[in-house]
Amino acid sequence: MKKMVMGSVYLTGAGPGDIDLLTVKALRLVKEADVIIYDRLANPDILQEAKDGCEFVYVGKADSHHTLPQEQINELIYQNALKYSCVVRLKGGDPFVFGRGGEEGIYLRERGVAFEFIPGITSAVAVPEYAGIPVTHRGISASFCVVTGHESKNKEHSQIPWENYKTNDTIVFLMGLHRLKTICQKLIEIGKSKDCPVAVISKGTTKDEKTVVGTLETIWELAKGLPTPALFVVGEVVRLRKQLNWFEDKKC
Ligand code: SAH
Repeated sequence: MKKMVMGSVYLTGAGPGDIDLLTVKALRLVKEADVIIYDRLANPDILQEAKDGCEFVYVGKADSHHTLPQEQINELIYQNALKYSCVVRLKGGDPFVFGRGGEEGIYLRERGVAFEFIPGITSAVAVPEYAGIPVTHRGISASFCVVTGHESKNKEHSQIPWENYKTNDTIVFLMGLHRLKTICQKLIEIGKSKDCPVAVISKGTTKDEKTVVGTLETIWELAKGLPTPALFVVGEVVRLRKQLNWFEDKKC
């Protein structure tokens, strides 16, 4: 059987915002790419590193609505793999952390297209880190979890294991700013203290980074109007920001 000649697709993490947090491997592939298919959360300055003649395709996603449905993005990547030898699919943060990288990989595998995953620095860890909040800290938090804040309201049963979150360990919510109040109320409902610290971090790792700190009871009021992308961190580790904040201080 004649083997079809197809390009390789590199499902690539672009990091959380700061262009210097792009990995060496991702940068090498961006320089080699014939086409780059990129998201809203991938820093567009990265595209300046591409070679002359590289094609750019924007498939930007806003938090709650997709400019292109995922199925169409999958097909677009596939079509580009039929056309080009090096296809870079550039995604914010890491492709596997709420990045739908798995779905894109499965779609390509089913069509016989070779792919590689290039891990990226995820916002779930790096954004708190720039805000001076370690997701784990000896004696304070022995674990952290990363949770979607965007679960559909209409779902009869939540897939989020809320009961697991009674401890003082760290919870990082992505895609949840619009549901901040509901989520904080839910955490109080399951038994967490209303004084548990919460930090909302907007546009993390960029020059526009802004962090607001409060408690499960007060944060939704304090964080009103903060622009997206934003994530929030719930847990005792938030208190360490007083000593560890560095990036926002440095900018002043
Ligand atoms: N794959 C990405 C996450 C995709 S989900 C990663 O690994 O980082 C998108 C969510 O990530 C946003 O809604 C927001 O909650 C968070 N996010 C991404 N970049 C961010 C940034 N620079 N600052 C704050 N939150 C960010």
